[in-house]
Amino acid sequence: MRIVLLGAPGSGKGTQSQRLMQQEHIPQISTGDLLRAAVAGGTELGRKAREAMDGGRLVADELVLGLIRERLAEPDTRRGFILDGFPRNLAQAQALDRLLATLRQPLDAVVQLEVDYGELVRRISGRRTCADCGRVFNVSTASAEVSQSAPCAQSGAPHRLIQRPDDNEATVTERLRVYEEQTRPLIEFYRARGLLRVIDAEGRVEEVTQRLEQALHASAGRRAARTAAASSRKPRSPGRSTPSRKGASRRTTSSASGSKRKPSVRTTRTPDKNEPARRAPGKTRTGSRRSARRERP
Ligand code: ADP
Repeated sequence: MRIVLLGAPGSGKGTQSQRLMQQEHIPQISTGDLLRAAVAGGTELGRKAREAMDGGRLVADELVLGLIRERLAEPDTRRGFILDGFPRNLAQAQALDRLLATLRQPLDAVVQLEVDYGELVRRISGRRTCADCGRVFNVSTASAEVSQSAPCAQSGAPHRLIQRPDDNEATVTERLRVYEEQTRPLIEFYRARGLLRVIDAEGRVEEVTQRLEQALHASAGRRAARTAAASSRKPRSPGRSTPSRKGASRRTTSSASGSKRKPSVRTTRTPDKNEPARRAPGKTRTGSRRSARRERP
């Protein structure tokens, strides 16, 4: 399974990726984590990335793409991967398309995690990371306190919780602005390719995981149908076609059989019930600054 998790800072991409990674046994690839490791390691790339990260801006595409290329060349990605925090703009999405086409590993699904702006700000200000094992907690939720009581898997001692330097208020505001401007357009980019699933990412972590799995299983079901239909279209000797085969090929006549994915008849879906269909301008969940300010704690 090759998937992208799309969502604003604080929408829970990291938390959900970690849970999915354990369930599906595929690696999570977080460009944020890779960049933070480069900064901590004092590498040249880390030095170049640091200023943009501290300011809440995007790190230059060529640096991030270099990291992704290297990471996707590692053997543990053969069975699949979860991309978390990448791609973050159209240029990155197009570069990813090209890279995955070369590797013959097209994406299976892109899941957009929808969270209200006020909730994003609340989550980010409560976010803490264990300095030893990197596990993420939220001091504003009760379940996090329970988790904190379990010792750190790395040190065996209680977790040493620290706040990320870019989780301060000014940087968070800039990160959310950058998301709206540069990352949100990817929703349409992937919708047009028939890959997008949108889930409501508010509520308990376990509930969101359930919605995520449902979304992924729905995608897997459609993928299987496409594969079955494609194999039924394979050349066969005249007079040997069966009614079911004919039916299958009729259903998918508009789907591309080549490497480029296009929505087939069956994948051109109506929006999920959780999916905000078309919102009035200024009413996007993460984009409505006015309503978000009112919700701020
Ligand atoms: P969040 O999604 O919570 O903002 P991340 O850990 O994904 O946090 O990213 C932290 C910072 O790392 C971003 O604000 C940005 O500066 C940089 N970054 C991460 N991924 C990318 C990317 N794909 N392209 C450019 N910059 C990135």
